[in-house]
Amino acid sequence: MKDNMRPPAVLKDLSVFFTRKGFSVYMVGGAVRDFFLRREAEDLDIATDATPEQVISMFRKVIPTGIEHGTVTILFKGKKIECTTFRTEKGYSDSRHPDSISFSSSVEEDLSRRDFTMNAIAVRLPDGKIVDPFGGRQAIKDRIIKTVGNPVERFAEDGLRPVRCVRFASQTGFSVDGPTLESIPVCLSATANVSMERIRDEFIKILLSPKPSTALRLMEKTGLLELILPEAASCRGVEQLGFHKDDVLDHMLKACDSSDPGNFNVRAAAFFHDIGKPLCQEWSPEKERYTFYNHEKKSAEITGKIMNRLRFSRKTIQDVCHLIEMHMFHYEPSWSDAAVRRFTVKAGIESIPDLFRLRAADSAATSGCGPDGVYRSPEGMLLRELEKRIKKEVDANAALSVKDLAVNGSDLMKAGIPAGPLMGKILDELFATVLSDPGSNKKDRLLKIADAFYRKLSEK
Ligand code: ATP
Ligand code: MG
Repeated sequence: MKDNMRPPAVLKDLSVFFTRKGFSVYMVGGAVRDFFLRREAEDLDIATDATPEQVISMFRKVIPTGIEHGTVTILFKGKKIECTTFRTEKGYSDSRHPDSISFSSSVEEDLSRRDFTMNAIAVRLPDGKIVDPFGGRQAIKDRIIKTVGNPVERFAEDGLRPVRCVRFASQTGFSVDGPTLESIPVCLSATANVSMERIRDEFIKILLSPKPSTALRLMEKTGLLELILPEAASCRGVEQLGFHKDDVLDHMLKACDSSDPGNFNVRAAAFFHDIGKPLCQEWSPEKERYTFYNHEKKSAEITGKIMNRLRFSRKTIQDVCHLIEMHMFHYEPSWSDAAVRRFTVKAGIESIPDLFRLRAADSAATSGCGPDGVYRSPEGMLLRELEKRIKKEVDANAALSVKDLAVNGSDLMKAGIPAGPLMGKILDELFATVLSDPGSNKKDRLLKIADAFYRKLSEK
């Protein structure tokens, strides 16, 4: 194995500021791992024996992002570089935070507090000398994830590490070393202590990884799924003969893997889309199969609770739940153009692309044809057709919201209709009329119709 690597130019340039003052500085963490994985690094981390105050004094633009942990962010040549002072951590009596952090002058000591061997490699700047006391490069070569030191101790210190472990497995496709994996169930009480925000950030990375089911299956095997997402764990063994050969959990995992890798909302909706099925399962003797009436509503409701618990933003929760609630639409070529417009309004024009992505992932999981083949299947062809018909309506400037009507509230007021709930009702009626008959979206016609509605409604 080589003892040297060529560091990124920006870090070489940055390191001069440290070395000319007699400090040592190393590239560390994910960027080093990703270099050996030949993956583009998301962010650059460095570690040094300079204290945070000394680092702040050396640069013009420094943000004290986590100064209590010795971390500051340096803005240098258009990049954000996280700089942490070498440290050791002692005692984690709450499984979340070290009781005390002391700065250290040794890079080896700093590497020994890191979670996995592949994350515990340092590269000295500017010369690129590699420091790898725990065999991190070998682990990367062997495609193995392994804790630095005793796994039970390391997981008990910080209960987020087991979740990071399965997340890295999903991102890299590496196997988890036997003793490391076996220690996860032993340390579940430590994971139970971790803040939901930290778990959420890992969950996002899991769902955005190439194959989320890798992490989610490892979570199931180790008890993390039951701990963090018990509603998903209870989908195991829920049969849906007549619809799918898979049980509900396997189907959700396949749908998630089949959905767009870069799109969090679709990935989350695909994973959770049937999570309400266990509560809606009923055996139908006539049909001789299980039915799951209204499961999309129940699934959206449970997903809302889970995502709230994981402290997702209200907007993200709303968007994901909306996709789930709408995922059972049933298009037939006999739909009139008005039916296509009504569907578009109900789904929300801005949600339609994601809704189709979700349905494609659901079909790919059911048919086993994979995301690329799905549009050639009979269901896929129907989806394509509906997509085209929606596009035709949009291109024809069909009114798809009350705002697109040729009249607004002040036009109605001028015509003698008072503001208030009745006016809201009239606008809704006008919109329903225009959805059925786009030709009626003309000011004079709508004012006449509004007047007739107003008379009818005020007579009641
Ligand atoms: P990515 O940025 O791709 O999510 P990363 O490995 O860079 O992955 P970060 O959370 O950015 O992860 O952390 C940077 C480094 O800090 C890690 O590589 C690891 O060495 C160390 N580290 C992060 N979190 C922990 C933890 N909970 N316990 C021990 N070491 C950790
Ligand atoms: Mg990182």
